[in-house]
Amino acid sequence: MICRNELRCAQVTNERHARMMRHFEEDNDRFSKFRDAYENGEADLAFDDHAEFRVLWRAFSESQVLEALLKGEVIESHYRNGEYGFLIWYNVKIATRQYRPMHVRVNMPENNQNFMMVMTVYDPRTKEWIWTENYTRRICLCDTRDQ
Ligand SMILES: [Zn+2]
Repeated sequence: MICRNELRCAQVTNERHARMMRHFEEDNDRFSKFRDAYENGEADLAFDDHAEFRVLWRAFSESQVLEALLKGEVIESHYRNGEYGFLIWYNVKIATRQYRPMHVRVNMPENNQNFMMVMTVYDPRTKEWIWTENYTRRICLCDTRDQ
C-alpha cells in the first residue's frame, strides 16, 4: 500500500506534530520518571491481554518489549480521557549487527503515573508508508489501524 493523498497527509501530520511539540518535553519527563521508578521497583507494567494483541506481539518477546520501553525513544505522546499515551521507537538487536525496528504503544493513567499498560507492539516496516525512513515520525494517516 501507499499513501493515497500525500499532500493532505503531510498537512494533517504536520499540524498534529506541531500540537504535540507544545507539551512534548513535559510528556517526555513523565515517561522518564516512570522509567526511573520502574528500575527502582516502584512502578508496574502490564500487558493488555486482548486476543488481537497476542497475535500482533507474538513476533516480539516480552523481554524485547521491556527493553524497548526502558531504552527506546518517545516519538509520539498525547492525552485523552484521563490517560497519557506514548509511542516508543526502538531498534532491537536480533543478531550480530542486525537490528529490527519496533514500536510499542503504552497508556499511563493520569492518576497513577507509576503504572503503564502495553497496548500494542509492532514492526513499523509492515506499514512503512506511514513513517519517515527511520520510523520515528508519522507522515501518513491513510491506514493507521493498530499503529
Ligand atoms: Zn496517507
